[in-house]
Amino acid sequence: MTLKKYSIPFNKPHLCGQESEYILDAVSSGHISGNGKYTAWCQKNIENRFGISNCLLTTSCTDALEMAALLLNIKEGDEIIVPSYTFVSTANAFVLRGAKIVFVDSKLECPNMDEDQIEQLITPRTRAIVPVHYAGIACQMEKIMDLAKKYNLYVVEDAAQAVNGYFKDSNDKRKALGSIGHLSTFSFHETKNIISGEGGMLGINEIDFLQRAEIIWEKGTNRSAFSRNEVSKYEWKDLGSSFLPSEITAAFLFAQLEKIENIQNRRNEIWNYYHLHLTSWANEYGIQLPHIPKYSTNNAHIFYMVFQNQVVRNRFINSLKSSGISTIFHYLSLHRSPYYSKKHGDRKLPQSDRYSESLVRLPLFYDLTSAELQFIVETILEFKP
Ligand SMILES: *Cc1c(COP(=O)(O)O)cnc(C)c1O
Repeated sequence: MTLKKYSIPFNKPHLCGQESEYILDAVSSGHISGNGKYTAWCQKNIENRFGISNCLLTTSCTDALEMAALLLNIKEGDEIIVPSYTFVSTANAFVLRGAKIVFVDSKLECPNMDEDQIEQLITPRTRAIVPVHYAGIACQMEKIMDLAKKYNLYVVEDAAQAVNGYFKDSNDKRKALGSIGHLSTFSFHETKNIISGEGGMLGINEIDFLQRAEIIWEKGTNRSAFSRNEVSKYEWKDLGSSFLPSEITAAFLFAQLEKIENIQNRRNEIWNYYHLHLTSWANEYGIQLPHIPKYSTNNAHIFYMVFQNQVVRNRFINSLKSSGISTIFHYLSLHRSPYYSKKHGDRKLPQSDRYSESLVRLPLFYDLTSAELQFIVETILEFKP
């Protein structure tokens, strides 16, 4: 029996160093429920850095999506255009309000929604388009915003994976992902680039939504306005729920935000190493690597590869596993899910299915060592698809 050289997980949460100090500070300052100074600091930090008009921290991206559905007054019979290749919450948040999900296929070049297939899916009942910036790679936001304008629809960017990602418009002007749609949602789950365990954020670029968003955020009350002394009592004003995280979570997140450049640099180094060393091998075997369109930057959230089929993909996962390297596949097409396939019907979404069956993600986390990275690449290069 040979000893395994390494045991490399797919992901390992990175600690920036200041997390426990800030948590301790939050605790000793006596305010550990939500909407305190760390929440305000995180929100300001992100608003300023990324040009998102207003941000509200949430306990998850799932929560931020649910807030978006409430804010848009989504109701029974409304239709929402969502990619099939995404996390369940992107669709579920709207289904909770009674909406019908109209799934759109992915692109050939990357798992993002195919913007050229959206218009044919729009009906008089369509209310919103929800682009998901898969792997932090931008969707074609110019085309999507133009369609939204033409048909009077809202755009909610699911930017869960897209922190520090940018869209470059046709004038080469950079706009941060999450600053373009009417609303946007982020995740700080431990698998994302910037983390707080569980955590998320709603971005509000349409200023008219702000007042109601604060009410929905605070259980349907105007407590936020009350705490700013704008009203003399707080009361039940609207629908809402408990969407805000505690200051403990916000303190953790703030320590991460302070180190965002450092985190991004290391992730990009790892991503670029994979790309440099795997490209000719991938070309030789017809394996699809991440494609960064001209209109997108790369935030190095995911390094994925797409094999010819599921059999080879699974053989690859097992082969790397036997060398102590954990690689994992990703979403299963939502239009074929046990919960939604009947409601979807039999309209085919072949690209989404292809990514479901054949995509795999490589380990990518801050603390991955250069020796481990080299070992992963060497092991992959020995694999014969
Ligand atoms: C991670 C993720 C979510 C969910 O984020 P949570 O913070 O865990 O709720 C939603 N959408 C996409 C595209 C994601 O990657």
